[in-house]
Amino acid sequence: MFRTGKAVYLTFDDGPIPEVTPQVLDILARYQVKATFFMVGENIDKHPEVFEQVVAAGHSIGNHTYNHLKGWDCSTDDYLSNVAQCNKAIFTHHPSIYIPVLFRPPYGKATFSQRLALHREGYRLIYWDVLTRDYEATRTPEAMLKQIQRETRPGSIINFHDSLKSNERMLTVLPQAIEWLQRKGYRLEVIGER
Ligand SMILES: [Zn+2]
Repeated sequence: MFRTGKAVYLTFDDGPIPEVTPQVLDILARYQVKATFFMVGENIDKHPEVFEQVVAAGHSIGNHTYNHLKGWDCSTDDYLSNVAQCNKAIFTHHPSIYIPVLFRPPYGKATFSQRLALHREGYRLIYWDVLTRDYEATRTPEAMLKQIQRETRPGSIINFHDSLKSNERMLTVLPQAIEWLQRKGYRLEVIGER
């Protein structure tokens, strides 16, 4: 599944939005690294030009449901159709793109039945092992960097959000985190399709 060696995977959830996502793309481009964006379908429909920028920059795209649905609040059928609606948004705005198989459940929560159904439909569920909690108002960039330094291992998946809630903190810590990871010899790669 993942290559061996010192690869780590930066991931960004909840975009794409014009206030934050282009700034993330600028930082990633500055360090010439790629990441994986778990997108919310309705944001793609609202901001197709931002979606296109992510695609054009060569990052990997994952599905994060159509409107950030919490699996435990709905039936498996409703969940699956919401996930399919997100793929439809992706495909509508970029017909030549592959249909994403990467899926991250919002809040990291989906029922057993939902996870089984997603697996049967061919989705690869991707969680994380380093949760920066960049969405918490009390978090400081310093604390987030320390956590990344403490918890990152080869193969780690680091969770950020390109959202309004995470904006300032995340954009401050991101360059520092990338510089530290590169100094430590980590390769920052996209999560592949397989
Ligand atoms: Zn989310």
